[in-house]
Amino acid sequence: MMLLTRKMIEIRSLLQTVGQSETLTLPSIVVIGSQSSGKSSVLEAIVGHEFLPKGSNMVTRRPIELTLVNTPDAHAEYGEFPALGLGKITDFSQIQKTLTDLNLAVPEADCVSDDPIQLRIYSPTVPDLSLIDLPGYIQVTGYDQPTELKQKISELCDKYIQAPNIILAISAADVDLANSTALRASRRVDPRGERTIGVITKMDLVDSLRGAAILADKNYPLRLSYVGVVCKVPQQHNSLFSRGSANITSAITKNESAYFSSHPESFGPATDVTVGTPNLRKKLMHVLEATMSASLASTAEAIHHELTEATYEFKVQYNERSLSAESYLAESLDAFKHSFRAFTETFGRAQLREILKHELDQQVLNLLAQRYWNRPIEDLSPLEGQGLVDTLAALPKATAEEADTLWRLKLDASTASLTKLGIGRLATTVVAGNLAAQVDRLIAHSTFSAHPFARTAITQASNAILQDLSYDTSDELEICVKPYKHRIDIEDSEWARGRENVTNTLKGELRDCENAVKTVEIEMGGKKKFRDVVSFIDRVRKGEIILEGNSGGGAGGFSAALLAKGREAAFLRDRADILRMRLMAIKSKQCASKKNKFYCPEIFLDAVADKLTTTADLFLDAELLSKFFYQFPRTLDSRFRSLTPQQLEQFAREDPKIRRHLDVVHRKELLEHVLKEMEALRALEAREKRHSNVR
Ligand code: GDP
Repeated sequence: MMLLTRKMIEIRSLLQTVGQSETLTLPSIVVIGSQSSGKSSVLEAIVGHEFLPKGSNMVTRRPIELTLVNTPDAHAEYGEFPALGLGKITDFSQIQKTLTDLNLAVPEADCVSDDPIQLRIYSPTVPDLSLIDLPGYIQVTGYDQPTELKQKISELCDKYIQAPNIILAISAADVDLANSTALRASRRVDPRGERTIGVITKMDLVDSLRGAAILADKNYPLRLSYVGVVCKVPQQHNSLFSRGSANITSAITKNESAYFSSHPESFGPATDVTVGTPNLRKKLMHVLEATMSASLASTAEAIHHELTEATYEFKVQYNERSLSAESYLAESLDAFKHSFRAFTETFGRAQLREILKHELDQQVLNLLAQRYWNRPIEDLSPLEGQGLVDTLAALPKATAEEADTLWRLKLDASTASLTKLGIGRLATTVVAGNLAAQVDRLIAHSTFSAHPFARTAITQASNAILQDLSYDTSDELEICVKPYKHRIDIEDSEWARGRENVTNTLKGELRDCENAVKTVEIEMGGKKKFRDVVSFIDRVRKGEIILEGNSGGGAGGFSAALLAKGREAAFLRDRADILRMRLMAIKSKQCASKKNKFYCPEIFLDAVADKLTTTADLFLDAELLSKFFYQFPRTLDSRFRSLTPQQLEQFAREDPKIRRHLDVVHRKELLEHVLKEMEALRALEAREKRHSNVR
């Protein structure tokens, strides 16, 4: 018999994990009673430990689904909160504290919550039982309690005391039964008293004859009858053992049976009243087993029905494609690594070169702007029709020499700036940044895009590898470019390539400048306004107009904002003029030969940048790119392989589509499992019945 109840309770717990459905459950014993009726004391006497929240104003705010599991061969007693994953708790005061915390977590405004707390208690002294402890009915609302509390508790209890659950209605002997809130509630849903067990507590507080009369109550007769108990922990025991782990069952029972046996005329064997906690436990076990048994067939049918629905959904919505968090991750990771491999095949030294050269082109443009193009245009331009060399030759000798020296110094200084820029760090950072962006792009196009957790894990993995590799690579590359800091020889072919290259770069820059001028012109409100403001700026620059004081408020009839735009436009226009002029110079026959390199700094610096790029791309290809390509997929494998089942589940559930799919698969599997268990149980039940018939 014991095995049967145990199995049914197990199935009940399994059904709880399937989901909240009214029909999809097996009945339980629901414990109701008003505050101070002794409800907690009864439950604690059954469990053998104090574990329920106490305190003058401590109202239970959530149902506690209490599953008691008898472990005959084990000594240890412990509790478990399956939903919290706190593991085995052997200290019952810790269980009490956890329950108190869970209760307090219900917001004051909500009063009570119908989300039950699952608690399992394992002990060799508890019977196999499933009980639901509900908040105690309150008679008078406390001054600091919300007024709806009373109503909300009553509604919550009503929800649970529906058939086929068994009602354990607790009333105290020292309160008139007609006033028992628990019995009144039970009578509303079970008017014929067929599934209510009446428990009368505090029997020691009333005269024994009166106590016996209560137990034989005829006003509300109960088929399962009344049981009288004295669940008070004896005083000396209370102080010594109530906290911690000592079992209080025998102390209570001793005290209780001493009381009842001292009144044999009221409670003795000759009377037909039922008293004592041990009898109550027996009754609970029998009644629960019988009630659960009676529900087996209808519950099995309900499970069947749910399973058919889940199977249908699985077939229609998901084409019977099986899915688990693990298989989903494996598939997603494979697809991601595949796309990464495809990327590695398109990204090599040539692509590195392009990225690096572009970066160095920008550096060259900055240098030119800083060291050359900020000069008045006359300093840079050949006289009309002549090249710069001819212009210098046409100058008086001393002046020409001075000018020539200046051009030489300028180029040497610019070249030094370029080679000493910190190419190692710059090139490594640019390439690492580009790779990180490529990884981001791959994530965005993968299934991982819907998974913040995986996104972070992958990004962290790639960043960690890149950072690690960059450290050494950057130093070593700096050493590789060291010779260029001392001397740079340019071949004729390199010069020619540089000339062609920089022509394109400057043309691009010129286009950008011209477009920027156009944008400013539109922003200023058209061609005429533009001309007026810019010519005003020019006249200020030439000193033809002197601005009074600080021109914060505008000048010449133009606002400060307009003048700022005008200055920007004048700058861009001048830059475009210089670029045009330098493009002409580069095209001129003087710049065809590297012998005039001092006068063609654009070409020379481009050729230097080219040399630096060649060294950097070769080095980075070997040291950064191929190492990253090798390490990244392996790191991902090991990172994702080390996820715990909970993390896996959490990961997969981040995607709502996958979550739904997983839910259907999970529900279907669970229902199949429960149904199998259920069938085994019914076979067991039938066998037990046959046996008892034979006996
Ligand atoms: P609850 O509010 O319904 O959970 O009631 P408790 O179990 O906390 O009991 C309320 C009070 O009644 C406590 O002080 C208990 O010690 C006391 N009490 C409970 N059962 C008995 C009993 O059988 N006899 C006596 N004398 N007192 C009891």
